[in-house]
Amino acid sequence: MRHQSHEVKCSASPQSPTLPPCGFLHYKGIEMPYKDPEQQRAYQKAYRKSHKEEAAAYRESHKEKAAAYAIAYHVAYPGKFNAYMRAQRAARSDEFRARDRAYYRAHRDKKLARAHIYNETHRERGRATTRAWQKANPEKIAAHNLHRRARLAGADGHGYTAAEHIKARWAMWGNRCYICGAPAEATDHVIPLARGGSHWPANLRPICKSCNSRKGARLLHKKRPLTLARSAL
Ligand SMILES: [Zn+2]
Repeated sequence: MRHQSHEVKCSASPQSPTLPPCGFLHYKGIEMPYKDPEQQRAYQKAYRKSHKEEAAAYRESHKEKAAAYAIAYHVAYPGKFNAYMRAQRAARSDEFRARDRAYYRAHRDKKLARAHIYNETHRERGRATTRAWQKANPEKIAAHNLHRRARLAGADGHGYTAAEHIKARWAMWGNRCYICGAPAEATDHVIPLARGGSHWPANLRPICKSCNSRKGARLLHKKRPLTLARSAL
């Protein structure tokens, strides 16, 4: 049917100078779809890029049709579009974040109202999310509670010390009670907050519950071997 000798590859796009070679074979003056799927995809991509406004106008004037098509697509390829968007977000995170921020700025009231309605109608879900987060981040909760106590006591350094600092202090003591060497269960203010101790990392050490309750708001006895926990490792 096809006469190879008459086929000529199109080297430039007749439609627009911005398009790559049109991807069609010219056969006796008729444009034939090019057989290479890669090239065809590239052509279609370029076409969509150069006809954005037209496509947007079409979608705008055929909204119901577009919505029905979108639903049909989701039914036919469940999860495909979401996976595509996730990949796009991951690959172009800065671009997406900037776009989200701009959208939020432009529609702040609307966003807040929607979030409020969502939270009202998904209360239990919100609570479950919070609980799950708390369960997954016990060291952050502990740091937050310590920080709160330090703030209320007006301790120095309470605005500085974060969960990572406390983690580092624990690591320095091998995650063991600095008094008896048992596995650590809490963080102690060596000089108690009640005695004007600070919340700087230097005043924080891991402690077990039993030592913690015995120590309370007292200062350690001078004779107690402070290095026991480390030397016992
Ligand atoms: Zn202990």
